[in-house]
Amino acid sequence: MTDKELPATVAKKLLNNDINTTCPYCGVGCGITVSRSSSQSAYPVVINGDKHHRANFGKLCIKGKNLAETLDNNNRLKAPQIYNKVQKWSRALDFVASKINKSIEQHGKESVGFYVSGQLLTEDYYVANKLMKGFIGSGNIDTNSRLCMSSAVSAHKRAFGEDIVPMSYSDITKADLIVLVGSNLAWCHPVLYQQIREEKSRRPALTLVVIDPRETASTELADLHLPIKAGQDITLFNGLLNYLHQHGYINTALLTSVDKSGLAQALINAAQDSQLLAATGIPKHAIEQFYQLFANNSKVVTLFSQGINQSKQGTDQVNGIINCHLVTNKIGQLGSGIFSITGQPNAMGGREVGALANTLASHIEFTDTHLHAALATFWQTNNLAKSEGYKAVDLFDAVESGKIKVLWIMATNPLVSMPGHEKIKQALKKCPLVIVSDCVASNDTLNYADVILPAQTWGEKSGTVTNSERRISRQRSFLSPFGQAKPDWWIISEVAKRMGFCSQFSYESVDKIFAEHARLSGLNNKGNRAFDISAFGAITAQQYQRLQPVQWPQPEGRAIRISDQSFFADGHYYHKNNQAKVIAIKSDVQESNPDIFTLNTGRNRDQWHTQTRTGKSALLSQRHPEPEVEINQADAERLKISNGQLVNLEAGDNQIKTQFLLRARITNTQRQKELFIAIHWSASNFNQGCVSKFVKATTDAISGQPAFKHSKVTLKPWQTNSEAMLVVKNLINENLATYQVAQKITGGYCYYLASEETPLAFFERLNRFVKTHPQQLYIQQQNMVLNASDPVKKYFRKSYFVQGEMQATILVASHKDDLPQGWISQIFTFTNSNEGKLNVLSADSKRLQSKRTFCHCLNIDFNDIEQAIASGTVTVDSIRAKTNAGNGCGSCIGDIMLKLKQCGV
Ligand code: SF4
Repeated sequence: MTDKELPATVAKKLLNNDINTTCPYCGVGCGITVSRSSSQSAYPVVINGDKHHRANFGKLCIKGKNLAETLDNNNRLKAPQIYNKVQKWSRALDFVASKINKSIEQHGKESVGFYVSGQLLTEDYYVANKLMKGFIGSGNIDTNSRLCMSSAVSAHKRAFGEDIVPMSYSDITKADLIVLVGSNLAWCHPVLYQQIREEKSRRPALTLVVIDPRETASTELADLHLPIKAGQDITLFNGLLNYLHQHGYINTALLTSVDKSGLAQALINAAQDSQLLAATGIPKHAIEQFYQLFANNSKVVTLFSQGINQSKQGTDQVNGIINCHLVTNKIGQLGSGIFSITGQPNAMGGREVGALANTLASHIEFTDTHLHAALATFWQTNNLAKSEGYKAVDLFDAVESGKIKVLWIMATNPLVSMPGHEKIKQALKKCPLVIVSDCVASNDTLNYADVILPAQTWGEKSGTVTNSERRISRQRSFLSPFGQAKPDWWIISEVAKRMGFCSQFSYESVDKIFAEHARLSGLNNKGNRAFDISAFGAITAQQYQRLQPVQWPQPEGRAIRISDQSFFADGHYYHKNNQAKVIAIKSDVQESNPDIFTLNTGRNRDQWHTQTRTGKSALLSQRHPEPEVEINQADAERLKISNGQLVNLEAGDNQIKTQFLLRARITNTQRQKELFIAIHWSASNFNQGCVSKFVKATTDAISGQPAFKHSKVTLKPWQTNSEAMLVVKNLINENLATYQVAQKITGGYCYYLASEETPLAFFERLNRFVKTHPQQLYIQQQNMVLNASDPVKKYFRKSYFVQGEMQATILVASHKDDLPQGWISQIFTFTNSNEGKLNVLSADSKRLQSKRTFCHCLNIDFNDIEQAIASGTVTVDSIRAKTNAGNGCGSCIGDIMLKLKQCGV
């Protein structure tokens, strides 16, 4: 079936009114206004930024803007399945409930595990946590947010006494100095980055320091870029702490809100680490400049993200940053503090309900015996978990070792996202019962599911999410549910009822869960827990429907505050003595083998996680059609690797070797001996699989967060004899070549292939495949074939038409450079006339090279940018003025700087 045959259906309530909801992607949590589209539109709805939402004030990035393109019902789960057989909901729910009960009976409560997700809504999270900790009686629930921000959580708890992100987005633009560390904000949280851009153009004195091993789109605005060597952040921030101490910037008499018991040791460690600053790889004068800027500005905001968290010393790294803010009182003041920017739309919601294995519930710790008893009463249970469960990596280890016998995975794809890929695969294979509730019909993990439960997707489900600044916003449904898809909270509650917990899970609607969650936050809370939204404990369905975005806390008895609110201005922290703590930390970086590369991972601007949503958009798939590894120019020259060539990455010992072929992108924005790969590809669209194959399951000892940023690999060129593109209308399942990637294009798919065969042999094989493949049967009745091959040049191109419509095109050459680039994504649509199509398809190969969109909002081509640079336009602003690029959502402004770099300007 094609996309058009499976349209999303707009819910009745959208007929007359616009609906305000929240973007399902990153932790910025932008507000969105959804309107019904006109009947001529290709998409069911029109998406705009919500002008009144304080996270984005109407702005959206390219991912948010193009959400309408991702709403088709292709690859959706229609009905529950047990062992690949479609079942009624009642049968599937009975089956799951009885299997969980049986496992508890035979093997104990620790034999059951839940692995949940930052894609769940808070209400889903709440009932999942309640079922596991309150009624199964185990702590074995952990979330994929463990992979992105659990080190920040641990560090907040150590320093502040509770997991509190103290700031609001409005604080960022009030700062005089912004330090961006371990975050490519311009690509990963674009709307926040644009707010910094606007403020900087209003107030040029605002200084931006970017600390990142790579030059990224975020360094474009930077006044100072510190190209730190991977893993050296503690050294840098301990060096800063020592500088502040040595230069008299720490006045202990003023630190009335800080418990100074750890300060002396912290300063000793800092003095020792400051001797190692050369190991950061940052020029001495740049370090000095950064330290002076930090010391001499009172309003400093340090923003950090995965580059800090995803390390085996992630918790210490965060505390290293917090220490510097605490000892200089650069926290709790307007425009001052530290800010953990979360990756997922509702990572914060999971933290609020306590769906991390080491928290009990609602910011209540396992160690708090009084609250433990109160919670048991509140939930009406006598089986409340008494100890922490397995954190994500340990959870899958426990599955692999046979301790966990029933694993329920909700709204996440761990086979792609977890480290230790092979072990995860073995765990899923071995586990006696794997239950997956998800909205998609296929992903890498679903191949191992025994029970599949269809969940509603964004646009269909209702609830709340909390963004990075603690702002709780409604997600409201505007699409009719597809097939038999149900809300996650409903699925979990129905299983719980069938397990015997009827009264405790008899929720009639999602607002009732939110109200209970709010009441729990106020349980025995006399201001001693920061997370308190008890003001909503009696919220009605109508009030919930109209709920405006608000930040926590919102305690009962106080009027609801819509305006921004930040923590610690009153010097009150949440340790027992009400003070914050300085934590003594120490750098622990081992020198690595010089022949081995350090592999860093991260995101591309236009894709989200494993592409299950953004991969449906032809527009979003244009910028990075294939996975690439970024390599420094000097390393590439030494290894004789050319730009665009396929390279082989290898890791592991002689027994277990992991290999990976992917495209080289040679750049001078990458450090030598370090590589970078985006995380978005998986076995579903790339026959080499996912990059997490290289990530060992090494975790931070405190947070349990895996160290995604520092894998060790070797690199060498891979010789191919032919490169190909195969354009088809439908996805294909066959593995056609050593290297194979699928890209969504308008009206179909483009496969990028590479083979050791000669171009002729490869072309003939692909031609046979197209003609004989069952899905392409209609081609056998084709009424036209256009063959534009030139065997002398080893260039082959053949297009098949049925009734004037192109059905498939095969392009094979000996070099990648002879194949089209971005143009291919419009092959089905580049012209309305068949004659036009024929002309272009029969033109010579070079003509097919052109046309690659740079700025999607305003449809500006790469060629326009390159021509502007060639004609002497050499600044970001002048290129914007000349070409208009970057003047829409602004997402590509940083890319103009990268393009200038690439052109050696
Ligand atoms: Fe969505 Fe994040 Fe983009 Fe906002 S910045 S539109 S939340 S992806």
